[in-house]
Amino acid sequence: MKAYRILVSGIVQGVGFRPFIYRIAVKSNVYGYVKNLGGSEVEIKIIGREENIGKFFSLLFSKIPPPAKIEKILIEEDNVQDIHEFKILPSGNVVNEPSQIPPDLSICDDCLREILDPKDRRYKYPFNSCAYCGPRYSMLYKIPYDRENTAMRDFPLCDKCKAEYEDPENERRFDAQGISCPICGPKVFLSTSDGEIIQDKDPIATAAKLIEEGYILAIKGIGGFHIAANPFDDDVVIKLRERKNRPQQPFALMALSVDVIKKYAEVSQLEEELLKSLERPIVLLRKKEDSEISKYVSPYLDREGFFLYYTGLHYLLLDNLKEKISIMTSGNKHGLPMCTDEECVKTKLKGVVDYILYHNRKIVNRVDDSVIRISSGRIMFLRRSRGYAPTWIRIKRKLRKVTVAVGAELQNVGAVAFDDKVILTQYIGDTDELNTLEELEKYIKFFLNTYHLTPEVIVADKNPAYQSTRLASKLSEEYSAELVQVQHHLAHGLSAMAEYGLNDAVGIIIDGIGYGDDGNGWGGEVINIKDHGEKYSREYHLKYVPYTGGDINSLKPDRMLALFLSTFMNWNEIQNYVKLSDTELKVLEYQTRKNRLFTSSTGRFLDSISALLDICHYRTYEGEPAIKLEAFARNGKLLDFEFPIINNEIDTTAAFKWIIENGIQDKPSIAYTIQYELGKALVRAALKLNPEKIVVSGGASVNEYILKGMIENSEGVEILTQSKVPPGDGGIALGQVYYISEEK
Ligand SMILES: [Zn+2]
Ligand SMILES: [Zn+2]
Repeated sequence: MKAYRILVSGIVQGVGFRPFIYRIAVKSNVYGYVKNLGGSEVEIKIIGREENIGKFFSLLFSKIPPPAKIEKILIEEDNVQDIHEFKILPSGNVVNEPSQIPPDLSICDDCLREILDPKDRRYKYPFNSCAYCGPRYSMLYKIPYDRENTAMRDFPLCDKCKAEYEDPENERRFDAQGISCPICGPKVFLSTSDGEIIQDKDPIATAAKLIEEGYILAIKGIGGFHIAANPFDDDVVIKLRERKNRPQQPFALMALSVDVIKKYAEVSQLEEELLKSLERPIVLLRKKEDSEISKYVSPYLDREGFFLYYTGLHYLLLDNLKEKISIMTSGNKHGLPMCTDEECVKTKLKGVVDYILYHNRKIVNRVDDSVIRISSGRIMFLRRSRGYAPTWIRIKRKLRKVTVAVGAELQNVGAVAFDDKVILTQYIGDTDELNTLEELEKYIKFFLNTYHLTPEVIVADKNPAYQSTRLASKLSEEYSAELVQVQHHLAHGLSAMAEYGLNDAVGIIIDGIGYGDDGNGWGGEVINIKDHGEKYSREYHLKYVPYTGGDINSLKPDRMLALFLSTFMNWNEIQNYVKLSDTELKVLEYQTRKNRLFTSSTGRFLDSISALLDICHYRTYEGEPAIKLEAFARNGKLLDFEFPIINNEIDTTAAFKWIIENGIQDKPSIAYTIQYELGKALVRAALKLNPEKIVVSGGASVNEYILKGMIENSEGVEILTQSKVPPGDGGIALGQVYYISEEK
């Protein structure tokens, strides 16, 4: 006989881990116990014959419950005791490793099977969940993850559910905090947009019928409301665009299966895995040319966002639709956070939706859908939120002090960090809006309270105009914490370095605009980063061009185009190439004479090419002109052009000269060449620094062709891109935290 004590930490609570251990122990004929220690550790003791213990370990390592994640496992020999059974012991309260806030997970196949089985007591029950699946973070008031700390506390268990909850033999429901049934669980309602309830036996089926008839519905999910509409009907999609005041920004589509999605988009193996994962992100897939989805769903783009159902309610709704697919875009008013309660829908979405399909379980924490794409074969987050947040990211260094990072400004995400753990908030949104800034503060404080932390350092961007920087000053006073400011693109580079645990690297940062150390707008930088950011030097950048007027240039690509052209062309000539009124151009010319602000932004460069090629002249959502330029390059070929590198500048103006001199003909190939060559030029510049590793970050690094240009010309030096957090501003908080870290 032998005995072992096993300590497991990670995501091992609230995911059916103990009943799993119980089952495999019984199966392998070993005795002992399993016990939650408190925090995020589980203790296991096993006693048995050597071959049985071997069997136990092989089951432990091959079959853990799908949502569980073992981060650390410690196995030591222990004394053999005279025990002849295996037990689940009551939880302890020793906290070595704090318990992790569990993320929201999609409905599992077993729960789905029950919903679809007419003989099951949970037949057609939209809130079915078990230990392996269902909402977590979105309904959590505080940890530990016990029913009374979640929105499920409003729904006391009925006798049948209680019996399942208490039965250790019940694989999926023993100690599963979120379980319920049609008797004791939440209920669904259908109402008009004013909240008048429509009496109906099957509100979900009726809602599906309304979608097919062309109505626009608000649908309550787990982290907020979606807006659903028929994606095949141009009139409906245009109506939705008008009502939402969202002329161009793409809508996501939710489908019942990958087979449904394959009718409209190309799906690779990796993309299929992402679509089916427990996290269920929106994946941006290449549209099929003959797709029957209305072209107004994602105008002028070559990718469309698809995701699969992730609750029983979604499944039942989609299953009632003929084509098994619906628009499911976030239920917010332009620029505001998504609604999480019916009151918000009735007021803020008044005039946008016709009907509301909702339920009486509260959404405690707003959690938007995550968005991922694959570029040059690599996973890229555009938004890391539902399913991923607030799972912590462990870094290879550690934090001496409890650190809060407030991120940047647009599409913002904040972070709280301690030891080697960085907890990024879910997607917060544009914190230049006061409401959204308050949400950032709310979630940062939620994490601080949850993990019983008091911040000692607050990290912000160097941009004094960011609202988040102001929030940082406020927090620094409130907690008497040190305030540290990190340059925007350095933070981008550090974010990538944090993913790989690097101390030194050469960073290629391609981005919109960030506040540079010289007061100019940086955004196309090659930075030599040493000692996790303590030392850095900006070695190369895209050529400085005037940035007269500041932010308005991002809305109007033609202004930026004029500014690029002004570096080598006189203003009379410029008017032949830009779509600006005479007055506008005159004012711009006049102001540019006195201009002192310059930019090396990659985003603004791509915007200007987009305007010159007549692809996009007005930006209605962030990144639009550049995203459309990328879409345009789909079938392009590589033409003969190369960016000169003069001193420490990559001469972007050469691209405009080349296009104008050669005449604008094969636009897809021009678009392709410019993006590919830009990547190549940046990597050529980086290689001059003899780097061991090159990290790439910034919003533009998701660009397929720029990335291709880098990877194909890196002369064997590894090009490291980000796959755990967005390379855009949604990942910047990780870099801000990394700046504070030290060696373990
Ligand atoms: Zn389940
Ligand atoms: Zn029940």
